[in-house]
Amino acid sequence: MFAARTLQRFQTGSRNVSTIQKKATKIFASISLTESKSRSDINAMTNLTSRLFSAPAAAYNQTVDTFPSIVIGSDGNLSAQGPFAESQAQFLKPDMESVKTLSHSLKGANMGVVAHYYMDVELQGVLTTIQKQQLEETGTSRIAIADSLAMGDFAVKMCEDGATSIACLGVDFMSESVATIMTRNGFGHIPVYRATSKHIGCSLAESAENDSYRAWLQKGNTENDSALHVVYINTSLETKAVSNSIVPTITCTSSNVMATMLQASVEIPNVKILYGPDTYMGENLVTMFTAVLDAGWDDEKIAKDMHPEHNRESITKLRDSIDVYPNGNCVVHHMFGNEVVNTVRENYDDAYVTAHLEVPGEMFEIAMDKSLDDKGVVGSTSDILKFISRKVALAVEEESENSTGSKRRLKFILGTEAGMVTSIVKSVQDILEASKSSSVEAEIVFPVSSEAVTGVDDDDISVVPGVSGGEGCSTAGGCATCPFMKMNDLDALGDVADMVIQDPDDIKLKAHLPPQRLTGKKINGEDAIDLGSEPILYMRHFMQNKTMPEKLVQKLTSPS
Ligand code: SF4
Repeated sequence: MFAARTLQRFQTGSRNVSTIQKKATKIFASISLTESKSRSDINAMTNLTSRLFSAPAAAYNQTVDTFPSIVIGSDGNLSAQGPFAESQAQFLKPDMESVKTLSHSLKGANMGVVAHYYMDVELQGVLTTIQKQQLEETGTSRIAIADSLAMGDFAVKMCEDGATSIACLGVDFMSESVATIMTRNGFGHIPVYRATSKHIGCSLAESAENDSYRAWLQKGNTENDSALHVVYINTSLETKAVSNSIVPTITCTSSNVMATMLQASVEIPNVKILYGPDTYMGENLVTMFTAVLDAGWDDEKIAKDMHPEHNRESITKLRDSIDVYPNGNCVVHHMFGNEVVNTVRENYDDAYVTAHLEVPGEMFEIAMDKSLDDKGVVGSTSDILKFISRKVALAVEEESENSTGSKRRLKFILGTEAGMVTSIVKSVQDILEASKSSSVEAEIVFPVSSEAVTGVDDDDISVVPGVSGGEGCSTAGGCATCPFMKMNDLDALGDVADMVIQDPDDIKLKAHLPPQRLTGKKINGEDAIDLGSEPILYMRHFMQNKTMPEKLVQKLTSPS
């Protein structure tokens, strides 16, 4: 029923299903999986997922003529166009006194730092410089800037390397996840500190923290004998625990969600998949399965290109088994609206276009179209970083083989949170420096209004970004920065490290620990933290073994 509703919306909406079918055919045809026996199905499906996601509807109307941008010159120097870009560029060359001060504090506190890509640009600039210094001095670094899944793994490595505390710079569900992964790896005694003592929310995570989400799960579980909740990793530990107490739950990322569904439906007969809370992503999956079927794929092609144990009948069954939570999205990615897209189409035809999987609307479609010719990418933050780095490296290689002497500028539209620019600039500078390139340069374009530069005030954090405030947000140009992530800042991190140096038992540090909502609690007689960790461990099992965990399958096939 859900798939039928989705299909109908596409037929009557701004993009019709035949367009999507054509895309599906082109994209799948462009991916040779003849080597899939030697390549993991998960990798193949990750690629397919990345290239096929599209969003069900445009989100927000904006009027924008030109976008701000940062140009990384062939000498590595930066130049910014527009106040927003200037504010971003200003911190990419950090104040060395700040670098020295923070480096000293982190060393004194024996503290490792794991930070999300969307972190404050000033903070990232300083951290990146300290990271470089540490690598030069010791060959290792206790600073990592990564996506939410990798942050926990980096924290474990830092503990193995001797760190006695970890600062986690992100939102609260990230510090919870990092602490959980550390505990599962034997480092539960090492404290994880957040930069602020305040609650750091997330619109997407919070859309699953209410009665409506639980009622939706209850209903799905009651109405189906084999209901499996596939929950996006970007949710709180409490959501995972409560959900897992209602219905067996496995977490997923934007990279492995499709592979998870395909594998679950193979191993669990008559599975009913409850997907949440990211509505765009869930509906896009349903649409993608529909597009594959409508494009006329036969059993052989589905087995070869999607999953060896699937065919038309099983894909139809899987598609019809997916129920998507209808009310969850990220406020930042939601803001890449139609007018931004028009500017991209009209003025940036020569640019590479990148888009995160959570980006709705036509912006995503442009990136997806461009990805067919390797002129764009859709995927996770890491996918975007890898794509830009690969394109710059390729241009440098071409230049060294066939130099014309004239400047060549590669333009990239950054279809995700603006904080990503720090890692991108660093990577591009490293490539240009190593190659001694004299003509290649890269321009990172922010698809927001060039006037969008208002600073974020913590007290106004509840203001919805994109409408009236927040760095990177304006009435004219949507929003490119997350106000929740920006609750982490340089001074706050330095203060936490100094508190650890002065007195690691200081009572004030307790307020910086991840949320402890589940400590000591039981749900239906089970330890709540264990219940919340289990879905993450299921996902890790799947990523390592390519099969569903036996315990999970048993829960669904032989319920007690
Ligand atoms: S960008 Fe901000 S609001 Fe969106 S999912 Fe990430 S933390 Fe949540």
